[in-house]
Amino acid sequence: MRGEEPTVIEALKTRALPEGSCDYLLEFLRLYRDAVQLVVDRIWGINEKLSWKKLHRLFYSDLVGRGLRAHHAKEIYIYANSLVDSARSNGGRKPVLRRLSARVDKYDYRLDLDNMTLTLKLHSDHEVKLKLVTSRDRVEKFRGWSNYELVVKYEDGEFWVSLYFRRVIKPVKPRTVMAIDLNFDNVTLAVLTLDGRLVKLKRFKTPYRKILTHKIWIERIQRRYPRSWRFIKGVRKAIERHGERIRNISWEYSHKLGDLVAELAIRYHSVIVLEDLDELRENNKKSKEFNKKLGLWFYRRIQFCVDYEAGERDLEVVKVNPRGTSSKCPRCGRKLVEYEHRVLKCKKCDFIGDRDVIATLNLYKKFIKKHSRCGVPGVTLNAPKPDENPSGMQGNKNEAMKTNQTT
Ligand SMILES: [Zn+2]
Repeated sequence: MRGEEPTVIEALKTRALPEGSCDYLLEFLRLYRDAVQLVVDRIWGINEKLSWKKLHRLFYSDLVGRGLRAHHAKEIYIYANSLVDSARSNGGRKPVLRRLSARVDKYDYRLDLDNMTLTLKLHSDHEVKLKLVTSRDRVEKFRGWSNYELVVKYEDGEFWVSLYFRRVIKPVKPRTVMAIDLNFDNVTLAVLTLDGRLVKLKRFKTPYRKILTHKIWIERIQRRYPRSWRFIKGVRKAIERHGERIRNISWEYSHKLGDLVAELAIRYHSVIVLEDLDELRENNKKSKEFNKKLGLWFYRRIQFCVDYEAGERDLEVVKVNPRGTSSKCPRCGRKLVEYEHRVLKCKKCDFIGDRDVIATLNLYKKFIKKHSRCGVPGVTLNAPKPDENPSGMQGNKNEAMKTNQTT
């Protein structure tokens, strides 16, 4: 496909024990934090967007003059700039840093996975060697990945490092496209060949009822104790318990679904097509539905798991703009009208189909359109006719309505 190669990024967080004295490391972390603060303070007063080049000109020599290394300096001004950016866009106050934490570029450390050690290059040519306190199994996974960055922290008297690993996915050329439409009560999945033939249609129920029940309980409790629920331990605990249940239900579901989807994609040699949630607009029917009933977080969680499981299996995931996918005719592009419960009809070409299946067909179409210039043959969708099998359309509701509960 176009652009960058798809990659998977994962972090390994582990405790780290300095060999010998930790004085220099602590000194470094303080120096680093104070340097970030200094840059934040100065940028805060400048009312313009700063390019990396400009940041470099403004701060590089000052930071290096404090004994920091070249790449330390770069990490510091870029990090400070991003802090200011996000504080400004949230309408927040000037960031004040308290915690001791430093982001370190690959040029400033040596990672030895065989011996589970890490050597950090600090200020003024000091070095510190750290022993990684974790199991060999956790580390083994990352052999062959590239490590490009780490974050070292001092927290409650202990040092922690998060090592960031990256692996390029070499996707096999897909033979089919798997389009996935997320709804608050179901997830609909369609597998189509590159020339538009439907080979698999599946629908999974979501546990939205269970989640809603807990949500309603929380709201009920909060209404009964509108002012005090935060302060009465028993009440707060009850709310936390329901919140915990919601988290567990949604993670468990998302993991299972991600796994199922990825296994199916392997079987059908599919590229997985998801809706780009960042493109969901306020006026979109779907986003309204979600904000009210469940929240986009549930969507994102499912996508995260699909993405993750696909990455583990070297499968490619592509996101397309979901705009219009649930309202336009997949055959002729006209606006569809309500026909029956969950069934839509096109007035122009008489296409009739299940609402969610239509969404997957449109996602498929968008994918083909977007990628037809780069390897995938440019085909026009031969949308299943209402009376055709196995389209999941009218007269064939059994297949489309079949549900596989994954909870
Ligand atoms: Zn039509």
